Parts: sequence; C-alpha cells; structure tokens
Amino acid sequence: MIVTNLPAEFEEAKEVLGAIQQAGFEAYFVGGSVRDTVLKFKIHDVDIATSAYPSEVKKIFKKTVDTGIEHGTVTVLDHGRAYEITTFRTESTYQDFRRPDHVEFVRSLKEDLKRRDLTINALAMRPDGEIIDLFNGLRDLKEGNIRAVGIAEKRFHEDALRMMRAVRFASQLDFAIEKNTLEAIRHNARLLQNVAVERIHVEWIKLLLGKNPKTALKDFLVTDLYRYCPLFADKKAIFEKMLTFENLQIGSEDAAWTLLCYLSNFSSSAVKKMLRAWKSSNDLIDNVTIATGVVDLIEQQKMNTWIYYKSGFHRLEIANEVATILGFGIDHAVLKENYAALPIKNKHEMKINGGTLIKNLRIKPGPQLGRVLTEIEHMVVTGKLENQTAVLLKAAKKQFEMEE
Ligand code: ATP
Ligand code: MG
Repeated sequence: MIVTNLPAEFEEAKEVLGAIQQAGFEAYFVGGSVRDTVLKFKIHDVDIATSAYPSEVKKIFKKTVDTGIEHGTVTVLDHGRAYEITTFRTESTYQDFRRPDHVEFVRSLKEDLKRRDLTINALAMRPDGEIIDLFNGLRDLKEGNIRAVGIAEKRFHEDALRMMRAVRFASQLDFAIEKNTLEAIRHNARLLQNVAVERIHVEWIKLLLGKNPKTALKDFLVTDLYRYCPLFADKKAIFEKMLTFENLQIGSEDAAWTLLCYLSNFSSSAVKKMLRAWKSSNDLIDNVTIATGVVDLIEQQKMNTWIYYKSGFHRLEIANEVATILGFGIDHAVLKENYAALPIKNKHEMKINGGTLIKNLRIKPGPQLGRVLTEIEHMVVTGKLENQTAVLLKAAKKQFEMEE
C-alpha cells in the first residue's frame, strides 16, 4: 500500500529521513501517526525509527538533544521543528511485568516492529508513503481488530500495560479485541497490579473519552482488568450502570471522574480518596469534588444563584455535562445565561473587602470580620444588595451591630 497525499507533518519531516538515508541508514515513520494516516485521521506526533545508532544520528544533524538517549531516542531540531528519532531496538528480559530491563539497539526494522504492542501500531512507512506491514496491521485496521503482535500471552506478560492499551484503542477506534488477544488479557489481568498507576491512568481516561467506551468497558469487565485498578474492585455495578446509558460520550477527564463518583454516591472525602489513589492532580481533585456535589443539586433541582457563584463556570459545565448524560441536564444556553446574570463572579469584584471594613468601621481583623464579609458577599450575589461601596458599608455596619 502506498499512501498518497501525505499529511503536511510528514512532508515536512521527509528531509530529516532523507538525511539519515543519505548517510547510509534506514529511516521510517512508525507508530501512531502511521496508523492514524491509514485511517485518514488527523495525526499528532510524528515518530521516526532508524537503523542508525544514537551516536550516528547525532553525527548527521547539527542540532540534536539527548531526550531519551538510554532508550535510543535523539531529538533532532530542523527548521524550528523537533523530531524524535529512535534507533531500532528490542526490549529484553522483562522481570517485573512493566518495563524492559534493558533495550538493545538493532539494525533490523523487523525486530523493532516485533516489539510493538498491537498489529495496528506495528506499521512503518517509507518517506514516499509506502507502508511496510509485517504483521497484517493493515488487515486489522481495515477489519477493525485489536490484535497483539506475536503471542498475546507472552506480550502481556512482558508488559502488562499493553492490556490497558488494547482496551483503550478498542474504545478510541471503535474496534473489537480479537478473541485470542482478549483471552490473553483475561488470563493475565492480575499482572496489571505491577504497573505504575500513572501509566494505567492515562489509558483509562483515553478509554473513557474514546469513541466507543461502552464496548471497551465491557472488555474491561469481562477480562477482570478493572479488579486490578486502584479502588475499582467493588465498582463492577457502577460500570454496568454506565453501560446502560444510551449516549456515553464523555468530553473531558473532569466529567469522566465526576460521572463515576456521582454514580458511586461518593462523599467529598470518598472522591478525594479515589482520585488520590489514581495519583491525580489537585486541580482535578478539586474540580471533581465540587462538580460531583453540583450534579446532585441539579438532579434535586436545588440549583440557586449562590451555587452557580461558588462553583464557577468550568465546574458547572462539568456537572451539567454529567447531568446531561444522566438525562437531567440543564440546557447549556440557560446555564450560560444564569451564570452571566450573576452580579459578581468572584469576591474580588465586591466593592468592599476586609481592608475597607477595618479602615471605615474601625473593626479588628478576626473571625467576626470574615463572617460579616461572607454575609455581605451572599447578599450581593443573591441580588439583595447593590454592589456599591456606600451600600455595602452600611449593610456591614448593620451586620456588626447585630452580631454584638
Ligand atoms: P497515541 O495516538 O495515543 O499517541 P500511539 O500508538 O502513538 O498512540 P504511543 O504511546 O505514542 O502510542 O506509542 C508510540 C508507539 O510505540 C506505538 O504505536 C507502539 O508501536 C509503541 N508502543 C507504545 N507503548 C508500547 C508498549 N507498552 N508496548 C509495546 N509497544 C508500545
Ligand atoms: Mg503517539
């Protein structure tokens, strides 16, 4: 097969491959970008594989960076672009089901393609667009199969993350996992425990955000992979519930976790515990904690101005996306209007602050000051007070007198 009309990213990189070939070595495009080109998808990073050893690659180009030299990757800077060039390699003696003990550089393309996870990811492409397909990856792309390269059983034993990659690609591409490969996942699922949570996390989210998360979730369940993910062992019923939604198109990681936490009936602390177990960022944890609570309020029709204000628009959108999946979402235009109608969007927009009160009302800093400010903030947000300095000062004075 020859791909004509190569995407611009490849056209731009051709010169780099040409330079390697000029020096007497082989060079190919490999990995996801080749797969996505055959599928006529937009490509992101262009990966290049070569028979040249890293030291040889560095001699060919003026500007290189040793980005992953121990794995054979050198980054070449060319016309303001960066290309990752990786020497053909084999990965030998996996001792702990996660990472190769060491990589060995080789001169043979076949050896390099052999170590790749799935047949659809083991394609190479010459600079002229000719596809090299040593493992029937093209057939599997055409038929929509996820199939391990070589003996599935062995490949998952070497690196257990590949099982998660298989289910994530099934979701992203809406492909079916081939029978033998699926059976090998089921058989080796427990090895996932040995894989770093951060790596599982990446694949899990790509699975949920993919084109067909439902089919992939079924595979995730039947193979028992879920049991070896952090805190998922007792979540089977939740995933089964997710399978019952007619439309399970999830737009963001925030929404994915919010849906899961909401269905699990999680308290704030349970949300935090789950997300920490998955080694999530604090930003994600905060968004999901708040959004999960808001979904509940949307369902109970208890949304009010104060909730809109305290949540912030981003978290409202996450919550409403989830509520929409669940069938009780608010019309997005209405959500936007309601938010836009808030008198202020955050407390810094208030015409008074702690400093003004201390200065004008001769009040000392302390818990009472905080209480009064929050009370005033609430009245401004809910439209009981106009956001004007004199009005707010007067109201604050009254509050202090009431507290005394
Ligand atoms: P994406 O579009 O998500 O980047 P990708 O296939 O490019 O998908 P990468 O993680 O970027 O995935 O990996 C690039 C290539 O490296 C893959 O296409 C595959 O050939 C190989 N690869 C990646 N991870 C593994 C693994 N765990 N085992 C074997 N080969 C792998
Ligand atoms: Mg990639």
